[in-house]
Amino acid sequence: KSGFISIIGRPNVGKSTFLNRVIGQKIAIMSDKPQTTRNKIQGVLSLPDAQMIFIDTPGIHKPKHKLGDFMMKVAQNTLKEVDLILFMVNAEEGFGRGEEFILEKFQTVNTPIFLVINKIDQIHPDKLLPIIESYKEKYAFKEIVPISALEGNNVERLLEQIKSFL
Ligand code: GDP
Ligand code: MG
Repeated sequence: KSGFISIIGRPNVGKSTFLNRVIGQKIAIMSDKPQTTRNKIQGVLSLPDAQMIFIDTPGIHKPKHKLGDFMMKVAQNTLKEVDLILFMVNAEEGFGRGEEFILEKFQTVNTPIFLVINKIDQIHPDKLLPIIESYKEKYAFKEIVPISALEGNNVERLLEQIKSFL
């Protein structure tokens, strides 16, 4: 099994932290350098029974006026071409304009999307269910997976779920 995966989410939700955890520090840090190249491979996770190729999609979270039509097209085409999208949000913060903007971009995309609720180490467990419920109303996510990229909670489980979609 092998597939391309794009992690989408506002700055600081924990995308690099997640990549660091699953594929190692160096690669994900390098991909944080300012770059003009689109659709860069951020890293490859090779497991005995699966290969996951993480693709950067810069700009998908940026308001349109900052980015231009061409870049937006490129970003959106990438979303159509990958096998799976991980939409990462911060459990500490509610659904906001940034998330709304990204969800709009998903409307024209048929790629399966997982909602990854990160930083669950920062919230009381009772808060999680309401967050999940509020996101369920907004989009038909294939999976909703709460994790802590920093502490590692549920990350293995997420990888298993990704594997089953490749
Ligand atoms: P990115 O902009 O989406 O790539 O976000 P980063 O991976 O750079 O993370 C932004 C900040 O959030 C950093 O200070 C991380 O240490 C922190 N962070 C990321 N994941 C978690 C998490 O699961 N729990 C907590 N408490 N902090 C996290
Ligand atoms: Mg980053």
